[in-house]
Amino acid sequence: MSDSRSLWYGDLHLHTNYSYCAPRETVPETYLPYVEEEDIRVLGFSNHLYYPDAVSAEERAESEYPGVMRVLKIKEELEAMKKKTGCRILLGCEVETVYGREPSLPKEMAGQFDYILLAASHVLNLGGYYRDYDLSTPDKLRELTIERFHYACSCDYPVPTGICHPLYPICSPAEQEIVDGISDSRLADCFTLAAKKNISIEIHACLYRGGTQLDGEGLSPSYLRLLSAAKACGCHFHFGSDAHAASAFTGKHALLRRAAERAGITEDDMWKL
Ligand SMILES: [Zn+2]
Ligand SMILES: [Zn+2]
Repeated sequence: MSDSRSLWYGDLHLHTNYSYCAPRETVPETYLPYVEEEDIRVLGFSNHLYYPDAVSAEERAESEYPGVMRVLKIKEELEAMKKKTGCRILLGCEVETVYGREPSLPKEMAGQFDYILLAASHVLNLGGYYRDYDLSTPDKLRELTIERFHYACSCDYPVPTGICHPLYPICSPAEQEIVDGISDSRLADCFTLAAKKNISIEIHACLYRGGTQLDGEGLSPSYLRLLSAAKACGCHFHFGSDAHAASAFTGKHALLRRAAERAGITEDDMWKL
């Protein structure tokens, strides 16, 4: 039987203006007018959890954990929102996992969140942190993306953990080549580890954004291949539109569910939160 609160009807990757890359007017309630037409009943907010050197000096002066405190400021808005909707509201965050550094969320602070999403493929969009790394070819970027995926699976946070936009080389002009170049056996290695560690795999907007070629249904065969591999390895899944504004939320969830269906993923395969 269909559970109306299951993550088949969820979107766990939503940003608001606590993320620098979101418009100032995006607040949690921005998404509320559209939940019915999107058939969404679970909303999860996962703003970027920045390293301390990426937030303001004022925020750094206020707390030992300025990146965490910044994301937690949303709590009040979420409490107010719960009174206005029947949707289940969850508090998450999008954690940086830059090579050579600890993740941006210290383990002792993880209990503040209902779930966390590890961003294992932020590389080119965080160029400053990778200044000393040679990422000059698609092969090198692919290797790092796979290495970071394995790393994220080994983080062992004490709260439910997912990987957002898995193996999606954000901002790379060679996206198609990088993704298609991951061999079947390496995909199986990645997703077998994720399944063993109960790390949820995100069914992400990269499926329809157009960084790789799209088919007649507006979906990417390259990313569908990754999803099918994850399903074959026994992973659990959640949906993530990665919306930073309402325009990236509306009209997207039917596509995400269609992608899941085409990869053989059913409601039973969804993450239990
Ligand atoms: Zn991201
Ligand atoms: Zn995001």
